[in-house]
Amino acid sequence: MNNPLPDELRVIVEDLQRYLVWEGEQGKVSILSRASAPPALVKPATDRSLEAIRQELGDCKRCKLSNGRTQIVFGVGNPKAELVFVGEGPGAEEDAQGVPFVGAAGQLLTKMIEAMGLRRADVYICNVVKCRPPGNRDPEPEEIEACEPFLKAQLAAIQPRAIVALGRFAVQTLLRDKSPITRLRGTWRELGGIRLMPTFHPAYLLRYPSEKRRAWSDLQQVMKFLGKGTPS
Ligand code: URA
Repeated sequence: MNNPLPDELRVIVEDLQRYLVWEGEQGKVSILSRASAPPALVKPATDRSLEAIRQELGDCKRCKLSNGRTQIVFGVGNPKAELVFVGEGPGAEEDAQGVPFVGAAGQLLTKMIEAMGLRRADVYICNVVKCRPPGNRDPEPEEIEACEPFLKAQLAAIQPRAIVALGRFAVQTLLRDKSPITRLRGTWRELGGIRLMPTFHPAYLLRYPSEKRRAWSDLQQVMKFLGKGTPS
């Protein structure tokens, strides 16, 4: 008899399938051994503080991005934030200041946060990689691999209720899902027991302002989940 999987299980199986495809595309050999672990384990809570994680990162030389950076851009905001925004990697302005999302895209992100009735200081903001990729290229797999444990540790230390993943790169990396951002955005996902909302990157919204409406509806879902209510 045809016995369809319950919805929850089906989502897990689909996530696992996408993860395996992603791993394969990254050229990983140990697909099966890695498959036994969830794609991105955030929980259980760590007893490491953000300061301890920053210290462990040190003057990081774990990948070649260290050669071109001015400084490490670790993350800023509330260490007990309910909401964390994760971008791709620092740009020129962020590299110069050591603070994520302070350039043009960052200014739009600040407006988005404020439109949600929050301040930057209420949330935590960081990136998948902590050093600027030269020429703002996408980070490479070994650079992500070197940096991702620190992002996971940050999330585990903060234990936010929700994560907003900004743009194709952050979303695809965190979820191990190569689907286009236009398909991924606006639907809740899960990362190690924490809800994750994929949405457009603010740099994309600067280029395509007509997409702001859809990004705003994603952020409204986040506010609803956090019980904040949103200005319409
Ligand atoms: N874009 C990002 O993804 N992160 C930043 O910090 C700045 C721009």
